[in-house]
Amino acid sequence: MKHLSLQAPAKVNYLLDVIRRRTDGYHDLRMIMQRVNLCDEISIILQDKPDLNVTCGRQGVPDGPGNIAWKAARTMLDLAETGKGAAISITKKIPVAAGLGGGSSDAASVLMGMNELLGLHLSDEQLMQIGVKLGADVPFFIFKNTALAEGIGEQLRTMPTMPPAWVVLINPGVHVSTAWVYRSLQLTNEKKLAKLPKFFDDVNSVCGIFSNDLEEVTIPAFPVIGEIKNKMLELGASGAMMSGSGPTVFGLFSDKDKAEKAQQALSDNSGWFSAVVETL
Ligand code: ATP
Repeated sequence: MKHLSLQAPAKVNYLLDVIRRRTDGYHDLRMIMQRVNLCDEISIILQDKPDLNVTCGRQGVPDGPGNIAWKAARTMLDLAETGKGAAISITKKIPVAAGLGGGSSDAASVLMGMNELLGLHLSDEQLMQIGVKLGADVPFFIFKNTALAEGIGEQLRTMPTMPPAWVVLINPGVHVSTAWVYRSLQLTNEKKLAKLPKFFDDVNSVCGIFSNDLEEVTIPAFPVIGEIKNKMLELGASGAMMSGSGPTVFGLFSDKDKAEKAQQALSDNSGWFSAVVETL
């Protein structure tokens, strides 16, 4: 019986510019995406019977065909045409619907894992093409490097090397619908994109690029997001911002001690998810 254990990391957005609405319902974006070592744990067992089972056991995340990891596995099993099936279990460590890309990362890991288990030998480029059909952020998790992502997120380029940093994640647990955020965004015709630096010499210079257009919608509706950002800066973060469409706020620190103290101060509120993680 062939078996694989995988770690599917979360991401934060250092930059999220919404450029325009497209006729297909997506938006053209410019994002800088960074992986962090907060990981879902995934186990895949390849089996001779054709059944495909995905179990997660986390509220708000479907088991079976509704799970993006199931769709990823189904695609790979169909491509392989071996008649085999798989039993996949996902232990969620990444908060769900949080702007941290957990579902997309699970799907990317399953594509890469099934590629190996089934001996398909697809290239990363091919896996990314399959991945974008499952979700716009899936290719980034196959690409792995810190990326400048354009288009709907699928056109990826490696960013200049960035110094490693400690990342404090705080999720206040308010429900923010991604579809509602994009729908509510007022887009101007002539969006001016800030010029990006060619190199980054310290954590402060990384924070110099922080910008997320979606905060215009989420902060007025959920002031707690702005409050966490301010508190994070007061507690010594070099920069703080909402990730994706939220509601998770992250702060970047060059100093581990400061990061841990900030997490402690911010996690006094019961029910909030918090973690100190590192950039990957
Ligand atoms: P992004 O940052 O890419 O916008 P997100 O972190 O906001 O993503 P996810 O945690 O990926 O959001 O989940 C969004 C929705 O997808 C959830 O409401 C959940 O029901 C569904 N979903 C399906 N499969 C998964 C999975 N494996 N993990 C998490 N959510 C999943």
